[in-house]
Amino acid sequence: MSDTNEQESIILDALERFLVTEVEPFVHDLEAKDEYPHAIVEKMKEMGLFGCIISEEYGGLGLSTTTYAKIVARITHSWMSLSGIMNSHLIMASAVQRHGTDAQKEKYLPRFATGELRGGVGLTEPDCGTDLQAIRTTAKLEGGHYVVNGSKTWITNSLHGNCLALLVKTDPNADPQHRGMSLFIAEKDEGFIVTRKLEKLGYRGIDTCELLFQDYKVSADCLVGGVEGRGLQQILSGLELGRINVAARGVGVAKAALDLAVAYSQVRKTFGKPICDHQAVQLMLAEMAVRAESGRLLTEAAAAAYDRGERCDMEAGMAKYASTEAAASNAIDCMRVHGAYGYSKEYDVERLYRDAPLLIIGEGTNELQRIIIAKQLVERNPA
Ligand SMILES: Cc1cc2nc3c(=O)[nH]c(=O)nc-3n(C[C@H](O)[C@H](O)[C@H](O)COP(=O)(O)OP(=O)(O)OC[C@H]3O[C@@H](n4cnc5c(N)ncnc54)[C@H](O)[C@@H]3O)c2cc1C
Repeated sequence: MSDTNEQESIILDALERFLVTEVEPFVHDLEAKDEYPHAIVEKMKEMGLFGCIISEEYGGLGLSTTTYAKIVARITHSWMSLSGIMNSHLIMASAVQRHGTDAQKEKYLPRFATGELRGGVGLTEPDCGTDLQAIRTTAKLEGGHYVVNGSKTWITNSLHGNCLALLVKTDPNADPQHRGMSLFIAEKDEGFIVTRKLEKLGYRGIDTCELLFQDYKVSADCLVGGVEGRGLQQILSGLELGRINVAARGVGVAKAALDLAVAYSQVRKTFGKPICDHQAVQLMLAEMAVRAESGRLLTEAAAAAYDRGERCDMEAGMAKYASTEAAASNAIDCMRVHGAYGYSKEYDVERLYRDAPLLIIGEGTNELQRIIIAKQLVERNPA
């Protein structure tokens, strides 16, 4: 076994034990109460999960994207919200790792790796999500700092976290607009106001909020890369990783739904036999398995391409699209297999059904993924 495989097995085994003993028994209750899992997060910090793709040089575990995707899929199999606490944090960290100045990397990455500084990405605003060039939050240079004004919404980890990669306009009149967009490492301080925690269909237990920036001052040293006008590109260049991460969440939900359905179909009997012996149920189980496995294989292929340093926007888009649609389809099929019990708040099936649709929307909607796939097909295969 290679060192990499051995390291991956050790980490995945430890994760398995942690999830089975310290997470799964508490998910139902935390989710029902929409309660933040403070104790679990502390344990995740100890395990180094907040630094799993941060390089070892900066105190992280320096894991490959392939291993990271397996970690995300396994955590999501237990509880999708838990993977969100770690993942949008790592998207912030990877933006700094890829585009930060040396001073920014030295200052922030070790604190991101331990989870001392935790957070996510602040992109979406009340009037725009997909069309990020339409953001209105501004940052104006005044002496040694920028003054930020505007609002953001749907920002995950912004209540219990303490830092964001914040996308703003430093030149609202720039043409094209992206040349006036910049990214900041924004630690919570005066003027960085959480106005409301949003009530969500699923993805509960994790904080997703509306934010107001009112004359919030951020040091010029926190401008990612030290240059204005690169913010959109800095964030978009992280989307491949972000999509692999959401794809991995899809793999976790799709597999969780499949596992529940396979188990239940063997114990529930109708007309004198387990329902797994009825052909209509067999067809559902087979389709669920094929969807889950297709999503997993596409996700592993995209992660491997990312690890090789190849361009993989199409591969990540395919993985994200296939595995998140698999999650949504498997969640409803799991409910069908469970009959009325699937509709009960006492079982996990309805949680999967409420969690899965977020994956279709987040990190680039699935409509957008198909557009990216089609454009890449044409670009890579000129007639
Ligand atoms: C639970 C949750 C957590 C979130 N966490 C975060 C976070 O941490 N940070 C953050 O910044 N954001 C976050 N978001 C926001 C998320 O990224 C956006 O919802 C997403 O980008 C879509 O944007 P939108 O909701 O404004 O939809 P819109 O952009 O308004 O899109 C609406 C519809 O139009 C379609 N559409 C839009 N443009 C096109 C086009 N060019 N071609 C074809 N179809 C198009 C979309 O596919 C969609 O069907 C979160 C959202 C949710 C629900």
